[in-house]
Amino acid sequence: EKSGYDYDVIVIGAGPGGYETAIKAAQLGKKTAIVEAKHFGGVCLNEGCIPTKTLIRTANLYSEVKEAEQFGVMGIDVSKVKVDMEKLQQRKQSVVHTLVSGVEGLLRRNKVTILNGIGAFKDEHTVCVEEKEYTSENFIIATGSNVFMPPFIPLEGDTNVITSKEALDMKELPKTIAIIGGGVIGIEFAHVFSHLGVKVTVLELMENILPMVDEEVSGMVKTRMEKNGVVFYNSAKVQKVKDKSVMYELDGKELSVEADVVLMAVGRVANTEGLNAEGIGIEFDRKAIAVNDYMQTNIPHIYAIGDVNGKVMLAHTASHEGFVAVEHICGGHHQMSYERIPSCIYLDPEVASIGLTEKQAKEKGYDINIGRFPMMANGKSLVEGDSDGLVKIIIEKELGEILGVHLYGKHVTDMIGEIAVAMELEATAEEVLQAIHPHPTVSEAIGEGFMSAFYGKAINC
Ligand code: FAD
Repeated sequence: EKSGYDYDVIVIGAGPGGYETAIKAAQLGKKTAIVEAKHFGGVCLNEGCIPTKTLIRTANLYSEVKEAEQFGVMGIDVSKVKVDMEKLQQRKQSVVHTLVSGVEGLLRRNKVTILNGIGAFKDEHTVCVEEKEYTSENFIIATGSNVFMPPFIPLEGDTNVITSKEALDMKELPKTIAIIGGGVIGIEFAHVFSHLGVKVTVLELMENILPMVDEEVSGMVKTRMEKNGVVFYNSAKVQKVKDKSVMYELDGKELSVEADVVLMAVGRVANTEGLNAEGIGIEFDRKAIAVNDYMQTNIPHIYAIGDVNGKVMLAHTASHEGFVAVEHICGGHHQMSYERIPSCIYLDPEVASIGLTEKQAKEKGYDINIGRFPMMANGKSLVEGDSDGLVKIIIEKELGEILGVHLYGKHVTDMIGEIAVAMELEATAEEVLQAIHPHPTVSEAIGEGFMSAFYGKAINC
């Protein structure tokens, strides 16, 4: 071997970060291996992004059909419509299976060597997998994250506390569920369960749900979910779960809510179990592996990408960080930037946001213009039968730099990519307005939002 090592790059963990990174390294001519302990596709494909979205699809379809009459779509007998959890689980499994086997095929086609088992560092250049040793010039740690079970919320007695993993595998629906945590995961499950007919209560420590989203939009989401029967307790400090009760403190009062099932969704924590990272001297920042802008750890030929570095726990961040690491290994100097990462929440309507919220922009001292366009004035949203929603655009006043875009409406998760491109190219609002949006689409509302931000008024409202 050129370098004297078995491989140029060994990636540890085959989640969306690890497997895409391994493929990229191989495509750039590096002799690459990937170590995976459990399943290809990691949390994302097996117990995260993909299974949740499969459940959400059914929940949306079910409630759309049931509510069709309310929207004036007549001629459908909705009285016999019901959800079959067994079939729903089968479909989820089949979607997951298709994607997971696809990942294995992709790795093989790109000539990435697959090493099955838990990877543990022996030294800076050696990893042990199933008692065999493999050496490499570079390593990329992509071992992901686990559910965080907060030690400050003790579980007492006969509780029925579950995590997102069990919530995805339910074969029967409970009558009531209490969700601890109003972040993306908690809110997506609140959406699924409420649309499937479960009575949902959400307990959130902060003043607002979905803290990464502009408050105007998260407020609209909350109102919409309340209309669907979800009960929210914000600024609620959960003390413990005792039997079927969640005990919490709100406004100085000790209160409790009863539920058949309690879903713990207060966050995730980096996973380095069994890796022996500390053993070879890799430095941590609290529980996560500390990295620089090239994703290098304190040992320069060992990189850490995805949830394990604790920066932004999203699948598309994980793979992008991986590309930054591979580029650096190949001699490039592209730095990871966290300012323009789209964040999507799969409700109905959907939420997608990128960049600063209005509050953040003001706190940073920007002089801003805000554009708003309500989905009510968008033809396609009316056609879809659901015109709840808003396009909110935040630009810098003088030069029209795009600071933040927050979308609430049908299909918006598929639209935020155009804003990511515009922001990456440092397009101004005026330049975005030169682009022609097709009619009739929800994307037209984005153009209108930019008009509102740049000229102070949109055309259709
Ligand atoms: P992971 O996906 O966690 O993969 C790590 C892999 O490493 C695993 O396969 C594990 O078995 C393996 N591994 C660990 N240790 C070792 C070892 N020592 N040796 C060998 N293998 C090892 N993100 C989004 O962007 N969009 C969404 O819609 C979304 N929805 C989500 C919904 C839920 C319910 C959850 C829980 C998460 C969701 N996420 C979503 C987050 C997303 O799943 C993660 O950000 C993403 O999976 C992180 O990818 P990763 O490659 O860093 O790690």
